[in-house]
Amino acid sequence: MAAPREPLGAVEAEGSSGRQGNSGVEVVVFSDPATPAPLCPHGPTLLFVKANQGKEETRRFYACSACRDRKDCNFFQWEDEKLSGARLAAREAHNRRYQPPLSRSQCVERYLKFIELPLSQRKFCQRCQQLLLPDDEEKHRKHQIVGDISITQLKRPSQLLYPLENKKTNAQYLFADRSCLFLVDLLSTLGFRRVLCVGTPRLHELIRLKASGDKKSNIKSLLLDIDFRYSQFYMEDSFCHYNMFNHHFFDGKAALEVCRTFLQKDEGEGVIMVTDPPFGGLVEPLAVTFKKLIAMWKEGQSQDNSHKELPIFWIFPYFFESRICQFFPSFCMLDYQVDYDNHALYKHGKTGRKQSPVRIFTNIPPNKIILPIEEGYRFCPLCQRYVSLENQHCEHCNSCTSKDGRKWNHCFLCKKCVKPSWIHCNICNHCALPDHSCTGPKDGCFICGELDHKRSTCPNISTSKKVNKAVRKQKQRRSNKMKMETTKGQSMNHTSVTRKKKRRERAHQYLCS
Ligand code: SAH
Ligand code: ZN
Ligand code: ZN
Ligand code: ZN
Ligand code: ZN
Repeated sequence: MAAPREPLGAVEAEGSSGRQGNSGVEVVVFSDPATPAPLCPHGPTLLFVKANQGKEETRRFYACSACRDRKDCNFFQWEDEKLSGARLAAREAHNRRYQPPLSRSQCVERYLKFIELPLSQRKFCQRCQQLLLPDDEEKHRKHQIVGDISITQLKRPSQLLYPLENKKTNAQYLFADRSCLFLVDLLSTLGFRRVLCVGTPRLHELIRLKASGDKKSNIKSLLLDIDFRYSQFYMEDSFCHYNMFNHHFFDGKAALEVCRTFLQKDEGEGVIMVTDPPFGGLVEPLAVTFKKLIAMWKEGQSQDNSHKELPIFWIFPYFFESRICQFFPSFCMLDYQVDYDNHALYKHGKTGRKQSPVRIFTNIPPNKIILPIEEGYRFCPLCQRYVSLENQHCEHCNSCTSKDGRKWNHCFLCKKCVKPSWIHCNICNHCALPDHSCTGPKDGCFICGELDHKRSTCPNISTSKKVNKAVRKQKQRRSNKMKMETTKGQSMNHTSVTRKKKRRERAHQYLCS
């Protein structure tokens, strides 16, 4: 199978949801069920609204759920836009063209043939990211080929495939062994027998490796991921090509049924969902999707279990705590720092530039989750959970308050613990970085106003950029049209120049304050 002609991926979730200062873009979660969203190659699109503060303009539009870079999927349609039959047909053809070249069952067939081959004939094309059958070799003659693909290699596709790191597409950050082994052991200690892996290909393969090597731990795993390359390595019952931002199964009902059967087996007993979505702001659509998976699991429950919740691990940066808990109030955040192989920033200990900001959010009682003592985690009897070494119990807050793993200090004026680098500002009347500017927009993020991160790491940056770009492009098209019609188009350009200048000034103010 050829690599998809277009990256089928989502972005390092630099999402679009939530408030975003004064010209934010939000997902409209509760769109009208009577008008289904138009489709892009990644399934149903999402409805967005660009809310301009102080302006009434709230024209809504559809855009791709998965790709936050227009280069990857350029779908754009105003909600009230009527398309001609010809355009609709062209769109359908486009959507078909961008589907993977092989069906799920064709992939399985190829896989079965591949494992029958003698070692010397088992080849993998690095350029095309594809296992080759003897008939394919001619086509890949000039490509970089790896030979002698062993069964062990086939069992670890995340090491054979290169990670689709592009932040604007898949944002594939693979767990470091330390974290992945910790998760597998934890799942087994907690007694789970089935793991629904949503966007966790490396965890999926490690669970399966462990299950095949160790009779005692016979945990089953089903991977749902948008990265189609993985379909070469798994049978239908262990991989579904899936978009977690719109709960779309690319292979239709058959794949949906695979997922349903997996969740509902043994009346839903012994199953957990583990997800590590691209980091970012599309928390709402993710929450909507996870609620659909929860509902699917619930359908298989007997009546007397109706109070039970599907156990979930949602792996995400700590600064999304309030957003996640808004949608899942029973979740709490664990102190465990999840780290990644191919992410310089998110590595544990001294080799990484920083401590990883990525945590596990879960509805499993935290006192059941033992964090590794040898890595410095300790049990806080008052909080009834394991915490980081430096996360000290604050007697005033009555809790171990640190979120980022450093020791936080209690501020009596703010009546809460704050980051060690913050001091109380009497002008702003709250704690902030010493060099913050007391006037102007609050310090913290220039884009969304949140205090716990900067513009450069804002989870909201990319989509707002992309969508703004989409809206700008649309406007540009109209302005070009106007230019052609009236020959005066200067005023439009003028405003955009002033706006740009203003934005630059604001950025300058922010960077230098
Ligand atoms: N740490 C995990 C990988 C997380 S990276 C591990 O090591 O197993 C994010 C994963 O989500 C990638 O595998 C990526 O392909 C997948 N992904 C990205 N966008 C997605 C989408 N819209 N739907 C489903 N999966 C997606
Ligand atoms: Zn799309
Ligand atoms: Zn090739
Ligand atoms: Zn405190
Ligand atoms: Zn304070």
